[in-house]
Amino acid sequence: MQDTIALENQYGAHTYLPLPVVLTKGDGVYVWDAEGKRYLDMMSAYSAVSLGHCHPKIVAALTQQAEKLAIVSRAYYTDKLGAFLQRACELSGLERACPMNTGAEGVETAIKVARKWAYKVKGVADNQAEIIVCENNFHGRTIAIVGMSTEPQYQDGFGPFPAGFKSIPFGDAAALEQAITPNTAAFLVEPIQGEAGIIMPPAGYLTKCAEICKKHNVMLICDEIQVGLGRTGKLFTFQHDNIVPDGLILGKALGGGMLPVSLFLANEEAMQVLTPGDHGSTFGGNPLSAAVALAALNAIVDEKLAENSAKLGDYFMAEIQKIDSPLIKDVRGKGLFVGIEIDPLKAAARDVCLRLMEHGVLSKETHATVVRLAPPLIITREQLDTTLQALRTVLREEF
Ligand SMILES: *Cc1c(COP(=O)(O)O)cnc(C)c1O
Repeated sequence: MQDTIALENQYGAHTYLPLPVVLTKGDGVYVWDAEGKRYLDMMSAYSAVSLGHCHPKIVAALTQQAEKLAIVSRAYYTDKLGAFLQRACELSGLERACPMNTGAEGVETAIKVARKWAYKVKGVADNQAEIIVCENNFHGRTIAIVGMSTEPQYQDGFGPFPAGFKSIPFGDAAALEQAITPNTAAFLVEPIQGEAGIIMPPAGYLTKCAEICKKHNVMLICDEIQVGLGRTGKLFTFQHDNIVPDGLILGKALGGGMLPVSLFLANEEAMQVLTPGDHGSTFGGNPLSAAVALAALNAIVDEKLAENSAKLGDYFMAEIQKIDSPLIKDVRGKGLFVGIEIDPLKAAARDVCLRLMEHGVLSKETHATVVRLAPPLIITREQLDTTLQALRTVLREEF
């Protein structure tokens, strides 16, 4: 196992600091290391594995399609893409979808559509469009996206960045209204900030943002790459606020834990600004991805995973809140998306994750102080109880 870790460390760019475990197999909520030790996966690849590892319906969709037709580019139609896009539109309530691969590409697509809509439909003067984002956002790692980040490390050494972004505090609808100008194209927001440490906005925040955006003819674009598709107890987190945004970005779980698949969805008025040649992706919307993503959407709905997330999430959070530990500063989240904030004076979140790993539970810290718990949504109450037992033990240990 040490050799495997050394090999990756020698030849790989050091862009991550993984926990020292080498995974070789996954099935449902479990993964196994090279020595055969089993772990509960309470991270699910930052929500990419909401359906669990190697879900049989996804494996079937992948292998059947791989034997028939995988990649043809968008130079041709395929018999798979239309049905996938239709399902995504029907479920979200938006009218059109642009298929990409990674989440960051979905965000880039959203930015391009919002800007072009501002110029061609709203009537903003050339090169003046502004996009409002939130402090402590995480939307990916491209140059434009890190350019709109407020996290110094994400930007350090990578400038210069594109202009046209401004940031406001997250959760503050009044700040949004103040920041809007006649040049504002869009407000891009995570309904719950994931990488920032599972930060919850005040109740009704998105409802207010939607009203403000409508009043000022600004697109409200929700980045639900991490919180979408059942993670927070509804199929989409915006549904907790009874709104439908003007733009929606999906990724991660959309690929069924098998492939990178992302979408930018919007209404006709915005999406029609894209004409052939404006935007594209060689792999985006390929039949293999489309078959897998359609199977993923269907499985999430048919297996009632949003409902499971709501029900078990409430139980899980209530049980964590009962843990009496001096390490815990805060417990927050929605559905099966829970952050435990650790008092940095008492322990580092990473050390808590290392101890949990020894107890057979995989998690990962975000921002040094928060332990993120986001298991596959197929998890059962008994499996959560195993996690709770490990949490009770570790959070009462000496650090
Ligand atoms: C993960 C994530 C992204 C970026 O997705 P990639 O597939 O890593 O490019 C963007 N936004 C949010 C909210 C995310 O959690």
